[in-house]
Amino acid sequence: MDRCPLCRAALNGAETCRRCRAELRMAQRVEREGQALVDAAMYCLSLDKAATAEQLLRRALVLHTAPETLALWQIVAALSRRFDDTASGEPQDA
Ligand SMILES: [Zn+2]
Repeated sequence: MDRCPLCRAALNGAETCRRCRAELRMAQRVEREGQALVDAAMYCLSLDKAATAEQLLRRALVLHTAPETLALWQIVAALSRRFDDTASGEPQDA
């Protein structure tokens, strides 16, 4: 989290906004947990586990709806509809 979500002041790593004094520790923790789920999803994608990646991304979106996470989830959801994790990588019939 680079900027305060309330007043947009730069945070420079602080847990309390210097301008509006908002306490952001919990929001930053939720953002980190969401990013950890996205990282795990990326790892699953590297193992051709698109369905698992989709589930992780869905959980990440519940925590923190970042636009890049939403875009990645949409791509992975489309992929996992076409491929099965346990299949040989061949597309399923459309
Ligand atoms: Zn602020």
